[in-house]
Amino acid sequence: MAKQDRLIQTRKRLARLPFHKTLEDFEFSFQPSIDEKRVRELAILRFMGHQENLVFLGPPGVGKTHLAAAIGLDAINARHPVYFTTAHDMIQVLEEAHHRNQIHKKLQVYTKPDLLIIDEMGYRRMDETAAHFFFQIISERYEKGAIILTSNKSYGSWGEIFGDSVLATAILDRLLHHSHTINIKGESYRIREKKKAGFFKTPRDSK
Ligand code: ADP
Ligand code: MG
Repeated sequence: MAKQDRLIQTRKRLARLPFHKTLEDFEFSFQPSIDEKRVRELAILRFMGHQENLVFLGPPGVGKTHLAAAIGLDAINARHPVYFTTAHDMIQVLEEAHHRNQIHKKLQVYTKPDLLIIDEMGYRRMDETAAHFFFQIISERYEKGAIILTSNKSYGSWGEIFGDSVLATAILDRLLHHSHTINIKGESYRIREKKKAGFFKTPRDSK
């Protein structure tokens, strides 16, 4: 295998993407609220060169993780180090490291890659320590490294995630200063697949 290919293979492994789906695997026709041209432009990765952030907002199943991971894959293929985590896992890892006095070393996992993908922000509330670590990562990456973040919560409800509106404002301020938000409004793809498979039978179907 060529040296370049090996590097990309290694980076793919290290990135811990949940799947290797691409933008080509994404049916834009199913999700008309997404501006396909805009997403394809973002996948050219100029936002990374400018240390900008990308935020995908929307209800479950609309493709937030798919799009975030697909852009992550493009970034790896462009030879960038990428790291994917859920917000929950990241906080758990950091709290454990904190207890073992290894926080500075562990923080680097999230501050060093060219692109950090934080998935599922807002599914759980963060306590004070967790919110502090989160703030630290956002601050350290601010204007230095790109972040892609996905959330089912609109910005207005981020105060609830952090349990502190002042901290939420400080985090959002840095996160959104140089950023692109993609608001997805639509039906869950998972539910569509289930409907196709006949999981949800209407009374008429069962006749
Ligand atoms: P979310 O993160 O918004 O909850 P996901 O990105 O995990 O949703 O999408 C759920 C599943 O449906 C994944 O397997 C994803 O690949 C697939 N999916 C979602 N939207 C689309 C789409 N428009 N075209 C193709 N696959 C999709
Ligand atoms: Mg998801």
